[in-house]
Amino acid sequence: MLPELTEPQIRRYARHIVLAEIGGVGQSRLIAARVLVVGAGGLGAPLLQYLAAAGVGTLGVIDHDTVDLSNLQRQVIHRTADIGASKVESARRALSDINPEVRVEPRGERLTAANAERIIAGYDIVADGSDNFATRYLLNDVCYRLKKPLVAAAILRFDGQISTYKAWQGDGHPCLRCLFPEAPPEDAVPSCAQAGVLGALAGTLGALQATEVVKEVLGIGRSLSGRLLMYDALAGSFDEMAIAKRAECPTCGAR
Ligand SMILES: [Zn+2]
Repeated sequence: MLPELTEPQIRRYARHIVLAEIGGVGQSRLIAARVLVVGAGGLGAPLLQYLAAAGVGTLGVIDHDTVDLSNLQRQVIHRTADIGASKVESARRALSDINPEVRVEPRGERLTAANAERIIAGYDIVADGSDNFATRYLLNDVCYRLKKPLVAAAILRFDGQISTYKAWQGDGHPCLRCLFPEAPPEDAVPSCAQAGVLGALAGTLGALQATEVVKEVLGIGRSLSGRLLMYDALAGSFDEMAIAKRAECPTCGAR
């Protein structure tokens, strides 16, 4: 049973409700949705704020880190006064200011192979805004096992990429390991701390991620499953690449 919209909700979400693809029923679906955002950093900042503003009813946020001065150049959910505070607590405060109707579930812990299944099982959709390969591959494998759509983005320097993985749906739905079977060694690819990242790039990719999460919740439009969307900020251009499902994929292949 979807929740009935209240008068203030009809006003708050009027620009959604007027869209034929969303309407009152779609808005009620967003209010009933449970989304887990992994990382309250560069991608998580716009992602969380747009999902809260959109009325996604329950937002899980997992991040073990605290706010550092060097985060503020792109992690626009945190304020200068939040330096030293837990990122999930800082994010919770910002989100309840944006939309007090949203239930935020802050988890100030690291996502690990030991806790990932238990945590992810409580949500409908996962959005990956993490900054390391171990977490990306863990999310890929656990979301596949639990049949949860995963909207994953990554940014470095002036480049960003995003895709959606729901490989349990079969043909035409690859996973991250279909694209790159194994995570590269952590020191093979530089981090944002080493190589840098344009602040606004996090906004672009995080907003795209929020859009794809909303599309997956509502089942509208064309999913990014099977496609990698790439943004080159210096060139000012988007490009996309088809991702093939591989029979020998260690996660989703037929074996
Ligand atoms: Zn696969």
